[in-house]
This record gives sequence, C-alpha cells and structure tokens, in this order.
Amino acid sequence: MKIAFIGLGAMGYPMARHLSKEHDVTVWNRTREKAERHAREHGTKLANDLAECANAEVIVTMLPTSKEVDEIVDPLLPHLKTGTLWIDATSGDPNVSRETEKRLAEKGVAFVDAPVTGAVVGAENATLTIMMGGRAEDVERAKEVLRLNGKTLIHVGDVGAGHAIKVLTNSIMGATVWITSECLLLAKRLGIDIKTALEVTNAGSGRSNASENLLPMRLRDHKWPLVFKLAHHDKDIRIANALSHQQHASTPMLALTQQLFTASLNELGEGADYIEVAKIVAKMNGTSWD
Ligand code: NDP
Repeated sequence: MKIAFIGLGAMGYPMARHLSKEHDVTVWNRTREKAERHAREHGTKLANDLAECANAEVIVTMLPTSKEVDEIVDPLLPHLKTGTLWIDATSGDPNVSRETEKRLAEKGVAFVDAPVTGAVVGAENATLTIMMGGRAEDVERAKEVLRLNGKTLIHVGDVGAGHAIKVLTNSIMGATVWITSECLLLAKRLGIDIKTALEVTNAGSGRSNASENLLPMRLRDHKWPLVFKLAHHDKDIRIANALSHQQHASTPMLALTQQLFTASLNELGEGADYIEVAKIVAKMNGTSWD
C-alpha cells in the first residue's frame, strides 16, 4: 500500500519506520532534515513537496495539535484523490476532527481519528494502544495499517470519538500524577522516607501507573527525563475541559487539573516533561524533591 506519513516527531518517526516494513512509505516533515534521515536510515521515500503526499492511498498525520493538522489539510486539499483514507494519529480536538472530516468528504476522502497511548517506548516497540473514531469500513482500513504500530486497536465510535477518549484518559493520568505527588510530598514532610512511602502506596489502594512507573524515577531517583512534553499533556487536558463545557457537565476536578497543568506549563516552559508538574507541587510548598 502507498502510505504518506506526515510528522516525524518523537512518535511519528518510529511509527513511520514500522509502517515501512510492509508498505511503500513516503515521508514529509516540516524540518526536512528529519525526513531525509528517515529515508536514509529506513528506506522510506522522501517527498519532494507536501503535494506529493496526495499520491498515497493512505495519509497518516502525527502532529502536535489539530491546528497543525488543519494547516496540512489546507494545502493538500486541491491535490487529494477520491478513495484516499486520512488517518490522524495526533491527540487532537474532536470538534476540529468533525470539521476536517466534512472538508475531506467533499473530495471523496475518508477520515479516521486514531490517537495513540503508550509513549515513545510504545511507538518504538509497536506496542501502542490506538483508539479510533470513524465509520466502520474506514476504521477496518485504518486497522490494516495501524496494526503495525500497536497491539490494541479499539473502535470507539464516530469521527472524534478517538480524540475524545484520548484526552479524557490523559486527564485521568494528569489528575493522578498531581494528587499522588501531593500525598507523597506530605508523607515526606511527615518524616516518612520517600522509598517507604512509595513502597506502601504501591502495595495498597493508592497504587497507579503514576506511583508504580512515572514518579519513582523522578521523586526517588531524581531523574527527570523528557518523555512526553507537558505542553502536549496540557493541550489534552484543555481539550477535555472544553468538551466538558460544551456538554454543560459539572467536572470540578477536571477543571482544577487543567488550571494546575496550565499554571505548571507557564512556570516550567515549553521544554518541560509532563511529570515535572511534581516540581510545582513541591514549589507550592516551598520545597523540592532533592
Ligand atoms: P513532537 O513535538 O516530538 O513532534 C511534532 C511533529 O509535528 C514534528 O514532526 C514537527 O515537525 C511537526 N510539526 C510541529 N508543528 C508543525 C507545523 N506547524 N507544521 C507542520 N509540522 C509541524 O510531538 P510528539 O511526536 O511527541 O507528539 C505528536 C502527537 O502525539 C501529539 O498530539 C501528542 O500529544 C501525541 N502523543 C505523544 C506521546 C509522547 O509520548 N510523545 C504519546 C502519545 C501521544 P518539526 O520536526 O519540524 O518540529
């Protein structure tokens, strides 16, 4: 199958590599050097320009937000061919996705939103969980491609449903990271060793992905790698909060989580990792994790 892959960032770069094992993959990236490197290292084809991506049967986008996806749709639209499938793996905005679907449908192009979870390591190992929104027949086509990127592929609902559940699940994670950090900090202030506090948490009812996998490396071992940009996580929680407003739903915990993450992003800057919000929890208490 001819696939055009657009967006060779932390996630897109390894995802395109896996697709190239079975498909004829053309790559395009805003910073061309990355696409050149991909073509060199993985035998993919370098698109001469963005318009060349319209020759593919399937176009995959993996970009920061739906805004950047829109910026790619605009120039590609005149070149697109009927029967093409557009898979957007970006963690995007369901409202924007539904508008994108309409614009593409006018050209006879099908759209599936297919955001992923599982981090860069999941993209590297092709073990991502992929949640899809779209018509059943389009999702079946998308699965044929994305099975090379993930083990768990779930059809969630209509277009936008994949994007919706993605931002909701990331909001659950964000709130869990924050409350776990608060309670572990309090344990520390009470004189309980952080190793012991983590051990007890992970043996009991407070256990979570945050306490088992995300926080020990940072709080106990003082290693703060950049794994997932806080800017991306904040974007996801802001989308979730906007969806709540749209639904006239009462979700105070979500609203607070969004405020805390946006404040943390403003404090820590665009280059911060998402778990660095734990540093803000400590800072709000006039201390640090050192
Ligand atoms: P990165 O920031 O590493 O990569 C972003 C990509 O988008 C790069 O290829 C970048 O190009 C390109 N890009 C940025 N702005 C534009 C623009 N205006 N026009 C065209 N291309 C642009 O992001 P990730 O790969 O980490 O994340 C991508 C998506 O996946 C996000 O929605 C994120 O929330 C989601 N996600 C990320 C995970 C992670 O652990 N990193 C896990 C699960 C989902 P350039 O090389 O020129 O900068």
